[in-house]
Amino acid sequence: MNTVDHDADTDVLDDPAAWVAWAAARGLVPGEGEATARSVRSALRVAVGDPEAATTASVPVTVELPAGGRPRLVAPDVVGAVLAAATRLAVLGQWERVKICPADDCRWAFYDRSRNHSRTWCSMQVCGNREKARAWRERTRSDD
Ligand SMILES: [Zn+2]
Repeated sequence: MNTVDHDADTDVLDDPAAWVAWAAARGLVPGEGEATARSVRSALRVAVGDPEAATTASVPVTVELPAGGRPRLVAPDVVGAVLAAATRLAVLGQWERVKICPADDCRWAFYDRSRNHSRTWCSMQVCGNREKARAWRERTRSDD
C-alpha cells in the first residue's frame, strides 16, 4: 500500500526494475506486472479509507490443506500474497486497524497498534505535530 509516496511524489510501480527489486527484497515474486499491482494497491487503499483511490480488485489465491496441517492461503506472487495477508487481517477482525494518514501530502498506510484503535496519524512526531502546529496557527491568527 505504501509503494506510492505522495510526499516524495514517487511510485515504485512506475519503474519495472524498482518493482522487481521491491518484491525481491521481500523474498516475493513480482508476478503479473505493475498494472495488476497498481489496481490491487488502489483497491486496498480505498478499502481502508484513501479518498483518492477508487477501484476494486481480485487475484487468484488458492487454499492449500497439507496433510496433517492447517488450511492456508497460497498466492503465486506478491500481489496475491498481499491480498492473502489482507484477508487474514479481515478474518482476525483486525482490518479496521489498517488506516490511511489523513494528511494530504502523506496518506501513508499504517497499522494502528494503539490499545483503543484511536490512532489518526501515521506518526505523531511528523503528521500529528504538523497538524497541531497548523491548528495552532489558525487559532492564533483568528485572535488578531
Ligand atoms: Zn502521515
